[in-house]
Amino acid sequence: MNIEYNERRSLAERSFKGKIGTTLPRLDVPVQDMPDAEDIRTDLFLPEVSEGEVVRYMTLLSQMNFSIDTNYYPLGSCTMKYNPKVNEEMASLPGFANIHPRQPKSTVQGALELAYNLQAILAEIVGMSGCSLSTMAGAQGELAGMLMIRAYHVSRGDHKRKFVLIPDSAHGTNPASAAMCGYEVVTIPSDTAGNMDINALRTACNEETVGLMLTLPNTLGLFDTNILEICKLVHDCGGLVYGDGANMNAMLGRTKLGDLGFDVMHFNLHKTFSTPHGGGGPGSGPVCARDILVPFLPSPVISRNTDEESDSYELYEPDTSIGKTSAFHGNFGMLVRAYTYINLLGASGLLEVSENAVLNANYVLANLKDHYSLPYDRVCMHEVVFSAKMQKQQGVSALDIAKRLIDYGIHPPTMYFPLIVEEALMIEPTETESKETIDNFIQVMQAIAQEVLDDPSLLKNAPYATPNTRLDEAKAARNPDLRWHLSS
Ligand SMILES: *Cc1c(COP(=O)(O)O)cnc(C)c1O
Repeated sequence: MNIEYNERRSLAERSFKGKIGTTLPRLDVPVQDMPDAEDIRTDLFLPEVSEGEVVRYMTLLSQMNFSIDTNYYPLGSCTMKYNPKVNEEMASLPGFANIHPRQPKSTVQGALELAYNLQAILAEIVGMSGCSLSTMAGAQGELAGMLMIRAYHVSRGDHKRKFVLIPDSAHGTNPASAAMCGYEVVTIPSDTAGNMDINALRTACNEETVGLMLTLPNTLGLFDTNILEICKLVHDCGGLVYGDGANMNAMLGRTKLGDLGFDVMHFNLHKTFSTPHGGGGPGSGPVCARDILVPFLPSPVISRNTDEESDSYELYEPDTSIGKTSAFHGNFGMLVRAYTYINLLGASGLLEVSENAVLNANYVLANLKDHYSLPYDRVCMHEVVFSAKMQKQQGVSALDIAKRLIDYGIHPPTMYFPLIVEEALMIEPTETESKETIDNFIQVMQAIAQEVLDDPSLLKNAPYATPNTRLDEAKAARNPDLRWHLSS
């Protein structure tokens, strides 16, 4: 018997003329003429299918994707942690979800109170004096912070500064943000321990230095042990220190960037504080600043005005603000999610986050370092960077290993970053995963290392278990074919 019915059929294959998915109500408005025939596209094939078929097909497509709700995602430098569903519930409360940015402020006091409290909590977590929530991505937070540094120098009549110092391990958005402020980038190399080369920094620092952009822990997953001296060096030459705080998982409740000497920093709520992430957004990259930079924060900042008659929350523009970075108040739903997460954990819970984030990464480090090369063999923070250079000698690259992981149901880690590690595999287990999940990941990575020795050719064509097997990545990016086609 030949059964052709198949739930994987495309909508085109399910379509036949006259099949309908919905019945329109009787017309209760005047009939309008159709547009002229030449304005109507005839090449666009629209399938005729029932509602049930559309739903099944779309659900099937959604299940072909990796997501944090379906698979483990050990993506270094991009923290993909579990998004607690209670965050979603809070963000969809009608009082938060259905408000409009142009509503009178008196009608949205609860939402403003939440934002005001979140500003205070974030500033407290990093030991800064002020915070603005309106920036909508990590990279936008960086740009805002660097514009604040520029505004600070200009406000002092200090126009000679034009170089921003950035270590070679930095995320690519750092040099891009500095360049967008009109500055030139000076790259500072890393030393053999994975810290920034302090002597190179000393040589580079001078009266033309705008400041330093530094990620801590750095993107090798390492805490720069010279951090106090680094901040002092930059300050001594009149520069300011920008902190890339996209991934603060290892730091929560342990160390404050403000206490270490940073002047301004951004958070990624969509990494550190469990708000959804991926597929291009929506993100949230609040900026926190030390006292001298608070007057330059992006607008709006939320203030609380208390006097004898009233207690209300207002939006205001700081005196010398760099201006607006988003149309309204940023991605408010993300703020609700982060606020929920932080309040559910409380101060002691945040301490557990950093403890488990660091413990889990070191557990992975200890269990994989006999199987993959470890360029910086020291205690790591929330992530660990291996190199697949041993496997490369068998003809297997970091990319092949990453693709093979998909067959085992695990999302690839970050690859080929940081750039200073050959065949980099950058792994962040996160604190939200169980020991069983992490043990499974370790066993899979060990099994793949064995496969490389036994049958390297197996890895060259992985993955095998996905609807599409190995793609030509360059071609897929340059000529994306996102339309579905009538199967012939
Ligand atoms: C993710 C990340 C960024 C950029 O954040 P986006 O929200 O993607 O713009 C910047 N720096 C570091 C270290 C990051 O991990």
